[in-house]
Order: sequence, then C-alpha cells, then structure tokens
Amino acid sequence: MDGKGVHGDRSGGSAGFEALKTAIADGKMENGTTEKNRKAVKILEILAERYGTTPWNWHTRRDPFRVLVGTVLSHRTRDEMTDAAARAVLARYPDAASLADAPVEILQELVRPVNFFKTKAARLKEIARILCERHGGHVPDAMEDLLALPGVGRKTAACVLVYGFRRPAVPVDTHVHRIGNRLGVVHTERPEETERELSDLLPERWLLLVNDLLVKHGQTICRPRNPLCSRCPVQEYCDADSGD
Ligand code: SF4
Repeated sequence: MDGKGVHGDRSGGSAGFEALKTAIADGKMENGTTEKNRKAVKILEILAERYGTTPWNWHTRRDPFRVLVGTVLSHRTRDEMTDAAARAVLARYPDAASLADAPVEILQELVRPVNFFKTKAARLKEIARILCERHGGHVPDAMEDLLALPGVGRKTAACVLVYGFRRPAVPVDTHVHRIGNRLGVVHTERPEETERELSDLLPERWLLLVNDLLVKHGQTICRPRNPLCSRCPVQEYCDADSGD
C-alpha cells in the first residue's frame, strides 16, 4: 500500500493545505461551534498537514466518470488492483457510450484483477447504458440519481460527489467509521449514523476531505488491528486506549 509508484505524490500538497488553512481562518469556526466541532477540525488539520490533500489513488482524482468506474471496481479490492483495472477500462472505453457498447467478455478480461470481476464488468456496462439513456452519457451530480444506478450505494455515490464533483458529502467506508469512533469524534454503530454525525459536525469544506484523510490515516497509522498510536499525530485528541 505504501509507495509513490502506487499512490502518486504523498509529499503533502502544501498549496492545497495553505488554501484550506486560509479558508478555515475566515470560515465558520468563530460562531456556533462546539468543542466537538473544534476537535474534529483540529484533527483534520493535523492529518491534512501530515498526509496532504491530494488523493493517493488515481481513480479518485477529479473526473466523475473515472471516480464512478473506479469506485464500483474498488469494493473489497486493494487500491492498486482497483487503479490498474480502472486504467485498463478507461484506456479502451473512455466514456459512457463506448463502455455501454463494450463486449462483456472483453470487459471481464480488463477488470480480472479485482474481486467479483464478472459481476463488476456486467455492472459497469449496465451503468454506462443507463447514463446514456437517462443522463446524456454524463454522470449525474445528485445523490438520488447516483443511488438509482445499479450497485451504487451511499458510499459510492458520496465518493462520486466528493471526488468527482467537489460537492460536500461523507463517503463512509470501514476506515472512516472505525477511526471516527476511535477518536471519539462520533459515537455510532452503523456507517449511516457515522455519515449523519460527521455531516452535522463538520464545516462544509472539511466534508470534502474527511474521507480522504481518514482513509490515508487508516492505511498507514490507525490500522484496523494494532494501530501505531505512539506514532500517531493526533494521539493527544484520541479517546481510544493506545494500541502500541
Ligand atoms: S491514537 Fe491510535 S487509535 Fe487513536 S487515532 Fe491515533 S492510531 Fe488511531
């Protein structure tokens, strides 16, 4: 999972972070915020400084069609496998029209590195067909339209909004749910509750970054098992017992 070759630039995206710090300085923190709001934002500021605000994965960089294809392929699959398969698909079928016409056998070969590749190949083709039929070949930018696509749940839809359109949403995957609760930023049992609590808690601009930052933290330091608490940059804000 580590390495620049897989994830691109991990050096920090300092220009983006400077812009965010400026935004925070003139943002909502002055009025109507609670200690819990301030703690959550402080944690995200520290994580942004540590990990940068540029996504590490190729498939989560900007283009909504790329994000949709990549996120559909990503379910229960390692990031490097997801990126390889998404690159292969989009090199051959760069838009919804060409993907809708793709022979399913060829699609299966292109996405073979990911888990459930046959199901995902068929799903991509069907999604592309619907995009052409209902949305003029474009990815819609409304949560309800995205949720109407086959196999697209709240996490995938939120990823498309955040990474593809830069619209505020909270994609809650296993990292976001686990780390949010370990930190004590949320106290939830289910991902949908985590999504709701984080949406209520965070200023809009941090909704664009919370998934990216907690995923990076979960892949490197706050791992599911044996988190590296002694090396954690936000340990002083964490409610969990130290894991090492
Ligand atoms: S202190 Fe440990 S449990 Fe808390 S966020 Fe850091 S790594 Fe995770």
